[in-house]
Amino acid sequence: GASIRLEGCTKTFADGTLALHPLDLSVQAGETLVLLGPSGCGKTTTLRLIAGLEFPDDGGRILFDDEDVTHTPIEKRNVGMVFQSYALFPNMTVAENVGYGLKVQKVKAAEVKQRVSEMLEMMELGALAHRRIDQLSGGQRQRVALARAIITSPRVLLLDEPLTALDAILRDRLRADINSLLRRLGITAIYVTHDQDEAMALGDRIVVMDHGRVSQIGSPKEIYFAPQNDFVADFIGQINTFEGQVSCSDMRLPGGVLSGVALADGQGKVYCRPEDIEVINSANAGLRGQVHQTQFIGDRNRIWVKGANHERVVIDTDGRSEFKVGQEVGLQIRPEQMIVLDRR
Ligand code: ADP
Ligand code: MG
Repeated sequence: GASIRLEGCTKTFADGTLALHPLDLSVQAGETLVLLGPSGCGKTTTLRLIAGLEFPDDGGRILFDDEDVTHTPIEKRNVGMVFQSYALFPNMTVAENVGYGLKVQKVKAAEVKQRVSEMLEMMELGALAHRRIDQLSGGQRQRVALARAIITSPRVLLLDEPLTALDAILRDRLRADINSLLRRLGITAIYVTHDQDEAMALGDRIVVMDHGRVSQIGSPKEIYFAPQNDFVADFIGQINTFEGQVSCSDMRLPGGVLSGVALADGQGKVYCRPEDIEVINSANAGLRGQVHQTQFIGDRNRIWVKGANHERVVIDTDGRSEFKVGQEVGLQIRPEQMIVLDRR
C-alpha cells in the first residue's frame, strides 16, 4: 500500500457546515489507522476526501506516497472501500461481485477467474461463489464486500463502520479476520468506527476526533493509559474522575483523602481506570465508601462504591471476588495508576 498524507484539509459543505478544521494526518505504508470519535465528528468526511468522493476546501492537499491526488477523480486513485451498508450488486453472484473491479480494469477473463477463485478461497467464500447476494447473511455479505475491495490491490483500503450492522458474535469474528487479513497483506488501511473496542483491537494507531479536529493520535495503549485531554479521557473506556482541593499531594474528596497526587496545590483533577483501583480494608483507607451496586461480568466483578455526598466510583475487581451491597470498603489508588493531565 501507499503512504497517505492530508495537509491542511478543511471541509466546508455547501450549506456552510464546517465539517473539518484544517486537518493534518499521515498514514504510513502498510499501517492500519483508525479514526475514532462520536457521531458527527468528521470521520466519514475524512474518508470521503481520501477516496475522492469529496474535495477539500482550497489550500488542502492529499498525497498518496508523494503524488498529489487532491484533484484526482475517484476512479484514478485506486482505493478500495467497504461501508456499513454492503453496496454490493444484488443481482450478481458472489464471484461476479468480487471480480467486478478486475473486469473494469480490463483484466483478461481467464486471469479474473483465477484471481477471484483465489480470493474466495482466502475469504472462506469458495462454497458461495455462485450464490446471489440476496441469498447471503450479513456477515457473508461483508466478507464479499471486503474481497471485492482488496482484489484489485488498492493503494489504500477505506473502511467505514463495516461491522456496525452485524450482531455481536459475528462482529467479533469478522473483526479478528479483518485484523489478520490487514496484517498479512500489508495493506494501508483507514478504518472508521465510533466503537472504542474495535479501535483498540484493529488500530496500529488511533486518531481520536472531536468536532472536526484531531484530539489525540497514538497507539491504543497511549490513548488508553495516557489520554492527553479531558475529551479523550472521558470518551475512551470507563474512567473515574476525582476533583478536589490539593494540598501537599493530598486531594480532599467527599469520601476522604486521595494521597500521592502529582498536582500543584489548588483545585485539581485526577482520572483513574476502574481496574486500577484496589479495594482494601476500610479501616486503613484514606478513601472510604459503601458498595452501592455490583455487576458480575464473568472475567470481572464490577462494583460501584459511593462515598459521602454521592460521589460514585466504579471499580473492576477479580471475577471471583465477593462484595455485598451496603458493605463498607476502603479504596486505594497508587500514584502511578492515576492519570493526571496537568502534571505538577
Ligand atoms: P461522522 O462520520 O464522524 O459521523 P461526518 O463526517 O458524516 O461525521 O459528518 C461531519 C459533519 O458534517 C456533521 O456535522 C455532518 O452533519 C456534516 N455533514 C456531512 N455531510 C454533509 C453534507 N453533505 N452536507 C452538509 N453537512 C454534512
Ligand atoms: Mg460516519
